[in-house]
Formats: sequence, C-alpha cells, structure tokens
Amino acid sequence: MADNRVVQGRMVTPKKLAELVEGESVMDAEPIEDTDRDCPDCGSDVISVGYMPSVTEFVTGYKCQDCDWSERDA
Ligand SMILES: [Zn+2]
Repeated sequence: MADNRVVQGRMVTPKKLAELVEGESVMDAEPIEDTDRDCPDCGSDVISVGYMPSVTEFVTGYKCQDCDWSERDA
C-alpha cells in the first residue's frame, strides 16, 4: 500500500505509526504525510499522521523516520 512508510527500518501503516507516537493502540488514523520538519535529535525527515486515540479526540502525531523521536499535538 502506498500509504505505508519505512520508519526505523520497518514498514508501518498509518495506524501502526500512530500507535508508535501514542504508545498504545488507536481507533483510527489518516494517511501518513510528509512534513518540512527535521528531527531535533538526528536531523532526519519527520512524517506526520492524524489519528483518533479515542472517539472524542483527534491528535496529530509527528515521528522521525530514523530514530525514536516523536511528538503529539492535541
Ligand atoms: Zn530522529
């Protein structure tokens, strides 16, 4: 699937990426998007994914493709 991306050497779906950012399972996730941000830890590309950790909440998650860095905006 075109929506999948390689993160830290592993192919991930939008939902899997959201779960990496959230640290637990999520209800739903939108397609993964590129950002113009660079990782503050290693300088690699940062990708983003919008997801719903619960029915009432929508979060945008950011994840470095090469290291453990991630961030979430509620
Ligand atoms: Zn990084």
